[in-house]
Amino acid sequence: MSSSESDPPGVHKARPARIALRLAIWYAALFAVSAVVLAAITYALLARSLVDRDRDVIHSTLVRYATQYEQGGLDALTQMVRTDALAGRHEPLFVRVVGPDAAAIFYSMPSGWLGFDPASLPAPAPDADGPWTIVSARGGAARLEIDSAHLADGTLFQVGKSTQNRDETLSAFRADLGIALLIMIGIGLFGGALLTRSALVPVHRLIAAVQSIIHTGRLNARVPAGATTDAIDELGRLFNDMLDRIESLIAGMRGALDNVAHDLRTPMMRLRGTAELALQAPAGGDALRDALTDCVEESEQVIAMLDTLMDISEAETGVMTLQREPVVVGELLAEVADLYSELAEEKNLTLRVVEPPPLTIRVDHVRMRQALANLLDNAVKYTPAGGAVELSAEETGGRVRIHVRDTGPGIPPQDLDRIWDRLYRGDSSRSARGLGLGLSLVRAITRAHGGEASVISEPGRGAEFLVELPRLSQM
Ligand code: ADP
Repeated sequence: MSSSESDPPGVHKARPARIALRLAIWYAALFAVSAVVLAAITYALLARSLVDRDRDVIHSTLVRYATQYEQGGLDALTQMVRTDALAGRHEPLFVRVVGPDAAAIFYSMPSGWLGFDPASLPAPAPDADGPWTIVSARGGAARLEIDSAHLADGTLFQVGKSTQNRDETLSAFRADLGIALLIMIGIGLFGGALLTRSALVPVHRLIAAVQSIIHTGRLNARVPAGATTDAIDELGRLFNDMLDRIESLIAGMRGALDNVAHDLRTPMMRLRGTAELALQAPAGGDALRDALTDCVEESEQVIAMLDTLMDISEAETGVMTLQREPVVVGELLAEVADLYSELAEEKNLTLRVVEPPPLTIRVDHVRMRQALANLLDNAVKYTPAGGAVELSAEETGGRVRIHVRDTGPGIPPQDLDRIWDRLYRGDSSRSARGLGLGLSLVRAITRAHGGEASVISEPGRGAEFLVELPRLSQM
């Protein structure tokens, strides 16, 4: 089977090797271009300085010889040229002096140029010095660079020098430069491959982790931690954090699903048991009616649980539509207390609303009453006879805080966080009626309103639930 056949649909195989090669080639190409540019500049500078040096020698010699000729005539010039040659002052130069009648009156040629025909020299304009003349000899292999000057009496003075030395130096330099360039390009290729390989290591790790997750379906793969703080290692760390988060979310969802399945199973089993018993019993109108009534009650409990679960989900995911309207806090508390006054009386509890200052919140009236009713329901349910339940509200830091206090058994410290989880019920509360969804709904509704729900409690010292909401002007 080919790899593409075995891959899950939608999964494209990454080709990190190709990326590495591409990056290495780009790196080497850039490196090579910069090296070539650098070499070209170096070569041009060297060539320029060699030309300048040669022309300096030629020109200064021309000036010296011309001055000597003007002061001492042909003999003095001959003497000076000879002395220079003997002293090795500079490499042998081409010197020609042409009289005003166009007849050469002095002529000296470097040894390698003996076959050169001076008549082939282009005659410079009679009135201008220079310009530089370059002539080739013997098939163009060597060149002669000549400077010319006209003396006051019309004599043409010419001094020239072979470019052979300069050409040899430059050609040797070109060969060396070529070798150096090849070495630099090699280093560029090798360095590029090495650099991209090491730079792509974290990417390879990331790919391996993702592939492992895709192939095994398990989220426990992690990108090995990189030591640096650069972007790619940071990406690896963020990726791991994201996986941690997804894992804990999935674990939470699994737990909630298990709890729901477990909590649904009990009423459903009871429902089936009742129906089976009714079927086995001798036919009788009343027995069947009782069984059906039980079944309806059980299914109502299941429906209530599913409805609450859906409300929580909607509030948590932001799908719940809130009909916000200004609500006076004092009126809301009185309304909720009213719902439970009878029950509290039956249980011999003191239920009291501490009249709050005039405060208005902008909330969904029905939902907020549902949330506060859940808190009051718990307070009345868990507080033993003779106890007290109190509702109050205050303004703190621009927010409205509603308190639901009771003198009940309180909540053990290890339960303080867990009571907000879906379907969680405290150990000592299992005998009381309930689904373990009330507080989850309170928190979800409060958060959907931009607020927060919390609790302060110690075992044996009652519980105080707090619902904090933004004030009207801030919403
Ligand atoms: P339920 O009341 O249906 O069990 P809740 O989500 O409303 O579910 O509450 C979760 C748990 O928090 C309860 O089982 C109980 O242990 C604890 N609890 C809630 N309110 C109070 C209270 N006022 N006093 C003591 N314990 C409380």
